[in-house]
Amino acid sequence: MYSASKISEQFRVSRDKKFALSQFLTSWNGYQALESSSNKKLKKASKKFLKQNLKQLKAAQELLWASNRQSLLLIFQAMDAAGKDSTIKHVMSGVNPQGVSVHSFKQPSSEELEHNFLWRYWARVPSRGKIGIFNRSYYEEVLVVKVHPEILDSRPIPYGLRGDEFWDARYEDINAMERHLCRSGTVILKFFLNVSKEEQKRRFMERLNNPEKHWKFSESDVKERQHWDQYMSAFEDAISATNTEWAPWYVIPADDKWKMRGIVSAIVTEEIQKLNLEYPEVSEAQREVLTQAKEDLQNE
Ligand code: ATP
Ligand code: MG
Repeated sequence: MYSASKISEQFRVSRDKKFALSQFLTSWNGYQALESSSNKKLKKASKKFLKQNLKQLKAAQELLWASNRQSLLLIFQAMDAAGKDSTIKHVMSGVNPQGVSVHSFKQPSSEELEHNFLWRYWARVPSRGKIGIFNRSYYEEVLVVKVHPEILDSRPIPYGLRGDEFWDARYEDINAMERHLCRSGTVILKFFLNVSKEEQKRRFMERLNNPEKHWKFSESDVKERQHWDQYMSAFEDAISATNTEWAPWYVIPADDKWKMRGIVSAIVTEEIQKLNLEYPEVSEAQREVLTQAKEDLQNE
């Protein structure tokens, strides 16, 4: 019904014009034929779209794994309750778990703070053939830390410049790290799940009103919400400064979770397919070994 192709292009942040979050919608009207129909139908169609993509993604991941040349790093950043966890869960639901690793990054530990700000992430980038998922990432270092610069005061880092120069240096370091990863065979896709402030409120209220969802609620979520505008501005700065040719950003409308999952799965699939990977070629010598093994088994 929907074509997954070109979805990637549609949501990739352009490097040709100045980036502003206001250019991006938090809901998507791409399914025009369906927009006027009921929510139930829309959900059903979105699920179908996701299912189609997952089938292709499964095949694409197998090829990534078998060819063992490249890896894929998916980075998810968003405001609270935008749906990072459930997107990761759904989009990866059909793939071979041995080929995927997911890391959720919380506040750094004291050991992690003894090292440079990229250290703990370096250790977790995916090895060849694998898909690595970062649920939050080093981008927190230019998002939450930029919104609350007092965090830096409690960190054992050298005294020196703060302010714009400090953040520009961090963007530069991130770009350099990503460039190195890209050159070494890691394809990096960065997703900002773009939820609206109203939808976030609705989801928080749902968590508060539903006892089964109370565990999901955290007092700090509401506190951080008060800094919404500062976060948006930090996202805008970070995305503008790090939307490179080798590690593009995608801004995904997140007000409708099913559509969001469909879009993310389409982009991941499309980008793996673009790599034109191939199953490893079997050499003449290996072929002989296989024939011999078959013969030995038959004659057992
Ligand atoms: P969930 O709420 O669904 O469990 P979450 O990712 O929001 O997932 P929390 O434990 O609620 O997890 O929050 C983790 C917190 O850690 C976030 O507020 C995030 O900003 C913070 N954090 C992550 N990385 C860093 C970092 N490098 N420096 C400072 N804070 C960080
Ligand atoms: Mg949280």
